Amino acid sequence: MQNQMRELFRVALGLMEPWVVSRIEFSTEGQELHLWIDFPSGSRFACPECGRTDCGAYDSTERTWRHLNFFQHKSFLHARQPRVECPDHGVKTVVVPWSRPGSGFTLLMEASMLVLVLGGMTAAQAATLIDEHDTRLWRVLQHYVEQARAEADFSQVTAIGVDETSRRRGYNYVTVFADLDEEQRRVLFVAEGKDARAVEAFKEDLEAHGGSAAQIEEACLDMSSAFISGLKAHFPEAQLTFDNFHLMQLLGQAVDQVRREEQRTHPELKGTRYVWLKNDWNRTEKQARVFETLRTRHLATVRATHLKSVFQDAFAFEDLEDAEPFLKHWYFWATHSRIPAMIRAARTIRKHWAGVLRWFTSRISNGVLEAINGLIQSAKRKARGFRSTAYLITMVYLVAGKLDFKLPTLAPVTHTK
Ligand SMILES: [Zn+2]
Repeated sequence: MQNQMRELFRVALGLMEPWVVSRIEFSTEGQELHLWIDFPSGSRFACPECGRTDCGAYDSTERTWRHLNFFQHKSFLHARQPRVECPDHGVKTVVVPWSRPGSGFTLLMEASMLVLVLGGMTAAQAATLIDEHDTRLWRVLQHYVEQARAEADFSQVTAIGVDETSRRRGYNYVTVFADLDEEQRRVLFVAEGKDARAVEAFKEDLEAHGGSAAQIEEACLDMSSAFISGLKAHFPEAQLTFDNFHLMQLLGQAVDQVRREEQRTHPELKGTRYVWLKNDWNRTEKQARVFETLRTRHLATVRATHLKSVFQDAFAFEDLEDAEPFLKHWYFWATHSRIPAMIRAARTIRKHWAGVLRWFTSRISNGVLEAINGLIQSAKRKARGFRSTAYLITMVYLVAGKLDFKLPTLAPVTHTK
């Protein structure tokens, strides 16, 4: 019976010579399955440096790896991990076929961790499910992200989007660089911080993956002066487009400021923040009722909201020739509104005029950037923030990097006995 069991597990584990299953134990106490793997004395192994297959074992160390659960039971592999003495490379630790160097998990266990997280679980949920500390899980995720990123090809990238996000509100910002190509729609690089150095780090990473700064023709970003100066310095060929989402966000913040000031004298504006931040098509029924009641009053908030929605209308024009006079007119109107917050926002827009108008030529899709942002926000919400910036960066690559994860399987052992 033990012989048949051992053979069964040898096949299940995909073990090849000289590896055999030498012992199987089921601990009824701990409800755990333990498998011992071994090799006969005189076995030959491959040198991990040069691959020559006739190296004898020099010595060995007892090691344990966590493997896929056997039904609901935790299972562990135990083996002597040999070191070989290669005539050319000296004493080297043999790479065992069921695990990668330095990991306490088998390759199949690591694959299942990756699958859980790629399938939508948070790292914390996956860690709970497999009953491991999430620090160990993160280490595995980081390894596979690094490995997949090393293979990523950025040689065709010509249009990029730049945006920032944080580990939690107001803390530990990272800058996300995305490939805006409709077919690709992927995160290329995540840099710590949100200054011009982040742009420089992206340039280095892009070029390390076969891309070229000179090849970047279009860049979509918000009006952050750090990103603008970073892009001008490191991507001199890129035409800058200030994306519509951030322009509307700027005006939305201005409207909100107007409302907050005005509610001191007009208490009916209290609690109406989202009535003004939303648009005609996405107000709730209740918000729409409040809007209908207040829109006919002589309120600065009403005029500011109108300015905001007219600005939005400019982006329905097909051509720059039609949009530009419209926007100039809007600017005149906004700067003569006698609403300080709107005047300031209009002046900010005027200062970035070329990049605001560039959209009508580049038509650069902020939809791609928004979609990627949606994935990141959803991952952040599910995780309720991240313990470290490194974890946030890893998760962004997992959910939006479109990386090609070579999911580990048991590689056939290539050496002979
Ligand atoms: Zn060697």
